[in-house]
Amino acid sequence: MKRWISVLSSILLVAFLTACGKGSANSTGEAVTDSGANEEKLKIITTYSIIYDMVKNVGGDLVDIHSLAPIGSDPHNYDPLPQDVVLTTDADIVFYNGLNLEEGNGWFNKLMVAANKSDDDAPVFKVSEGVTPMYLKSEEHAGEEDPHAWLDVRNGIRYVENIRDILSKMDPDHASVYEENASRYISQLEDLHEGIKDKMSQVPEGKRILVTSEGAFKYFSAAYDFEAAYIWEINSHDEGTPEQLKRIVDIIKENGIPALFVETSVDTRSMETVSRETNVPIQGEIFTDSLGKPGTDGDTYMDMVKWNADMIYNGLVK
Ligand SMILES: [Zn+2]
Repeated sequence: MKRWISVLSSILLVAFLTACGKGSANSTGEAVTDSGANEEKLKIITTYSIIYDMVKNVGGDLVDIHSLAPIGSDPHNYDPLPQDVVLTTDADIVFYNGLNLEEGNGWFNKLMVAANKSDDDAPVFKVSEGVTPMYLKSEEHAGEEDPHAWLDVRNGIRYVENIRDILSKMDPDHASVYEENASRYISQLEDLHEGIKDKMSQVPEGKRILVTSEGAFKYFSAAYDFEAAYIWEINSHDEGTPEQLKRIVDIIKENGIPALFVETSVDTRSMETVSRETNVPIQGEIFTDSLGKPGTDGDTYMDMVKWNADMIYNGLVK
């Protein structure tokens, strides 16, 4: 019996020391929190994995996040499951991108109605608030906002600031933790932005044309001085029409483009056709509307953006 008491007190001591370890900054740069074991976490819904990662970085252990569109899928066209409706109804906060990403095909607004979150004062927040929108240009979508603002890291920083402000407003007791986490994360993002700018500036000027399936790189191209070419402008359908394929094949041939890129969240067959027609190789996969699976390349926002820059650089500098 005595032995058991001794084992038990060791376990309690370890538990106590572990609890004491929380609340201080650590050297690995993980999110810092001061949550107690029994504290209620903020229940948060994000529409896709990129916002999930940003909220995780700011909220750390204080938040419990459910992300809707699964990793590798397309958040333009998500079809919510019954479980999503239950969790969204129950959520304290919903974060979405806006700029026509989730609203373009209607699924998000329907979900908000089904989850009783469609009133003006519902806790539903657009993380792109304050970003200067860019607009689609094709005849079919002229005048619509382009959603892919996060591919310019400076806009990603704006998203993080918005997330920090909303978490602090909804959970003022922990505002200083959100502030501290966000400020560390933002300084990493600032370094990332400078690193990408530097890397992209090493691609010779005549080679700065980025060919992808969806025209998701408008913000990226404006930020890092590229031209964006694509098969279709936005993911409202996921295969190119014969006219769209012919158009991109002509652009590739006229400009002597050395490499093509395909996104992880689209059907790859159209880009494979373009590659066959032009004899230009697909350099590899890049991330636009989804992170990579946990434990693989591109599984965080910072990692996916860095991966893209390296892939683009390696493809175009030949
Ligand atoms: Zn997209």
